[in-house]
Amino acid sequence: MKLNCKHVWEHISEYIDDTVDAKLREDIERHLEHCEICSAILDSTRNILVLTADDRTFELPVGYSERLHERLAKEMENSEKDSTKE
Ligand SMILES: [Zn+2]
Repeated sequence: MKLNCKHVWEHISEYIDDTVDAKLREDIERHLEHCEICSAILDSTRNILVLTADDRTFELPVGYSERLHERLAKEMENSEKDSTKE
């Protein structure tokens, strides 16, 4: 099964938390190897989580998930315009 970007984004928090199914994890990793958009999203999502962990608050910044969703929605629009690349 070939994942598209939307599938990756749906599962990206589980992927980071390492709660994602092993088979799905493999598919996500394969997708990340060739998809710059998803790699960038994963990197920035991880950076936010790491910074938060270093502060020992273990809380996501206020509005974090809203901003992520906004960003994903924007990326989705872009990827739909550019769907031949998939
Ligand atoms: Zn992707």
